[in-house]
Amino acid sequence: MLLEFLKGLAVTFRHIFKPHITVLYPEQKRVDAPIFRGKHKLNRYADGQERCVGCALCASACPSEAIYLEAAENTPEHPVSPGERYAELYQINLLRCIFCGYCEEACPENAIVLGPEYELAGTRREEFVMNKEDMLVKPEEGFGEYDVEAVHELPATEGLP
Ligand code: SF4
Ligand code: SF4
Repeated sequence: MLLEFLKGLAVTFRHIFKPHITVLYPEQKRVDAPIFRGKHKLNRYADGQERCVGCALCASACPSEAIYLEAAENTPEHPVSPGERYAELYQINLLRCIFCGYCEEACPENAIVLGPEYELAGTRREEFVMNKEDMLVKPEEGFGEYDVEAVHELPATEGLP
């Protein structure tokens, strides 16, 4: 009995002096694994054009039927994407999404990617339906060459294991 008690105490003391790994969220953000799949992004080319050509392969691949899009024809005067068409309407319902990444894998243009953002809390259902404007990266952040490491890159947080 006493032996078990001392063994238990030994375990306690073995861990009590180890560095703390508690993350003081939300002041401190945890650094995610490079393959973490969070909130979706729609990439652009470096010149600002949208990568998405409205082919709907992502919607077809989605097992949760979380993606809804409507394509429209590009015009020579105002081409939105390099393809014949672009996504005029693009929505993802995050309440349906299971973050499997199939949409990312199915996309022939590397347009839709799952980024590192994990703060997706909300209080109303409508807040979880993301529109194209919510996902499109800003033109100045566009990727001329798609780089999945860059997409998932997070700034290092000091003091984290
Ligand atoms: S991550 Fe999976 S479930 Fe979510 S939208 Fe993409 S394919 Fe659908
Ligand atoms: S995100 Fe990719 S797969 Fe989906 S419609 Fe656009 S180009 Fe096609």
